Amino acid sequence: MSRANLANLYKVTDGKKFKLSEYNPADTYGLDIDKGEAKERLEQDVKSLSDLQERLYAQDRWSVLLIFQAMDAAGKDSAIEHVMSGINPQGCQVHSFKTPTAIELDHDFMWRTSCALPERGRIGVFNRSYYEEVLVVRAHPEILAKQRLPQKLVTKDIWEERFEDIRNFERYLARNGTLILKFFLHVSKEEQKKRFLDRIDERDKNWKFNPGDVAERALWDKYMNAYEDAIRNTAAEYAPWYVVPADKKWYTRLVVAAAIDEAMQGLNLQFPTVDKAGLEELKKAREILANEK
Ligand code: ATP
Ligand code: MG
Repeated sequence: MSRANLANLYKVTDGKKFKLSEYNPADTYGLDIDKGEAKERLEQDVKSLSDLQERLYAQDRWSVLLIFQAMDAAGKDSAIEHVMSGINPQGCQVHSFKTPTAIELDHDFMWRTSCALPERGRIGVFNRSYYEEVLVVRAHPEILAKQRLPQKLVTKDIWEERFEDIRNFERYLARNGTLILKFFLHVSKEEQKKRFLDRIDERDKNWKFNPGDVAERALWDKYMNAYEDAIRNTAAEYAPWYVVPADKKWYTRLVVAAAIDEAMQGLNLQFPTVDKAGLEELKKAREILANEK
């Protein structure tokens, strides 16, 4: 299975007919490889990503925005850690978006993420994003109430309006040279329970457990509906969603790496070439260095 094919299994570019129930969180596409082999494959992918990133940086035209969304314990942090592990830290920045601060709440909902967008030549990773505004906020009406929007503007159309704003925002970014890839790490409810129990039972994982996560889990169906609707309304050629099976961490990482690799290959990134005048200058510099006493 080539990288491109692996990524395409989970890629959604037109959400009209999207149904989350058609995606299996435990899928590994029949791949039954051991940990060592999975690690080796990921290493190759990471190497390839590192080469692509070097070109991205040198060319300094495109930027890459990677958005990660998921339920707790789906493996966002570890997917980001492993997939980005070979990348030059100067060319990559990770932003985690938590409950908005008072200052952030004083602005429109895109404000804090807009400030964190990657510059040309860079890869920006969003660990959660403005999609929370149609996910957690949808699952918790009380959060919307605290956003202090003018009452008149909060109608039953608010989610449709937010989807429209997100679509327009992403199209705008794409038209300005941002490659946008969105990952929903799709973990099953059973696997989440297992991972929570591990976090409770294993002393060195205790720090990862947040008792509040159990309350969110109780809203599972609400969240799944919100995810489905968000993907339906915001999947596009210029900003695809990848619904990545997340019950097997090794597979999640392979799919995420494959998707980034495939999309960046499509940019046809090249090192800048030096023109004739530039070559002359290099020659002169070489002579000066060679004649140094
Ligand atoms: P981890 O648990 O791995 O540390 P996390 O991303 O779950 O990572 P937490 O600090 O546990 O980080 O949770 C962040 C919380 O902030 C989540 O519950 C998320 O839903 C919430 N959040 C993020 N963006 C918004 C938003 N715009 N409005 C309201 N809540 C938000
Ligand atoms: Mg959390």
